[in-house]
Amino acid sequence: MLLEEAPVAVDSFSHEPGVTFFCSHAHDDHLKGLSGSWRRGPIYTSHVTARLLSRRWPPLEPFLKPLEIGPVHRILLGSAGGLEIEVCLVDANHVPGSVMFIFSGYFGTLLYTGDFRLHDDHVHLSVLPLLARPNAELSRIFLDNTFCHPQFAHAPRAEVCKAITKRIISKWPCIAFVVVYKMGKESLLAHLAKRLKTVVLLPKERMLVAKDLGLHGSNIQEQPCNPQSAAAEELRRRSMQGCIWAVSRRNVRKSLWQATESGAAAHAIDPSGWAELSRSQYVPCYEDSHTVSGQTVPVFVSDDGVSHYPYSDHCSYLELVQFLSCLPSAPVTFIGPLPKPGPFGYDGEVGLHRLLHEAGVPSIKYYQQGRFGKVDRKRAASDGPDCSNDI
Ligand SMILES: [Zn+2]
Repeated sequence: MLLEEAPVAVDSFSHEPGVTFFCSHAHDDHLKGLSGSWRRGPIYTSHVTARLLSRRWPPLEPFLKPLEIGPVHRILLGSAGGLEIEVCLVDANHVPGSVMFIFSGYFGTLLYTGDFRLHDDHVHLSVLPLLARPNAELSRIFLDNTFCHPQFAHAPRAEVCKAITKRIISKWPCIAFVVVYKMGKESLLAHLAKRLKTVVLLPKERMLVAKDLGLHGSNIQEQPCNPQSAAAEELRRRSMQGCIWAVSRRNVRKSLWQATESGAAAHAIDPSGWAELSRSQYVPCYEDSHTVSGQTVPVFVSDDGVSHYPYSDHCSYLELVQFLSCLPSAPVTFIGPLPKPGPFGYDGEVGLHRLLHEAGVPSIKYYQQGRFGKVDRKRAASDGPDCSNDI
């Protein structure tokens, strides 16, 4: 996104020279426009993300400018005039290397959360140097709105992790296929390996990421082959020993089918914030739940036997409200498009209006179907829910 207030782009890399580029983390949807032939200037990011990007695109290495999390850094803007800005990186608690940015300069002070999951440390953001200065005013918050709807009430990751472990133990030994993206859920996989005293098998690309993160070891190994093309004998042997096998969402059902057709005991777990929607997406689907440490973790099991757990690397709706409540009041801009109902979607307008009132922010800007909109709390209160969405 190119910030309105300053020639600064975060997580979008197609802008003309003159813009200064920042990268919050290495998920694909935050790397748009980036490639090995990219040459538009320095990219400021965390050390971990710089390592992941340089492994993926070695020619990018001279452009990557890793910054420490915590201190205030002074950076010369890429545009003419020699203007300097200050920036502070905050651990976003999303995936390894993910950060928020606090920018301070002639435009005021801006907070860009990137993707994040609320952490206890985030309630103290307002005491960080760039926000605690006398007369420092938070001009705008660019907010992760992935799950901005009250229906998303996912429990803390540690509790969901315990619930997943409990379910796998009840089926053990078996092959437990666990859905993963190219990165993320490292702590879940490591916990399962340790608790079950077993190995985690990773696809090659995911194994390279694990090595970059220093996570490889005797219990984290590259998969011998794709589970869909594994021999029946191999699958039966793995299931008798028990193992965790990381697979993509696209391949999880094919993998489960291949294993069960081969006579191997196998189960599939899809840990995702989108689990809350699984009830309506898969019919028939039964609902189960685990109570761990007094917290109920709902589980939705689809007709094909995949168990959906609400394990999320993004904030729940309530966490978004809590996060904004801990910060000085400031206008908000959603960093993702306003979701629409459908697969991996929901009524984003409902969530937008609820957040506007419950977090007490003055206004929210958003992007929807090729146009920008804005809702204002005072106008929304007087006009009702069908307020204007022009800017
Ligand atoms: Zn992400």
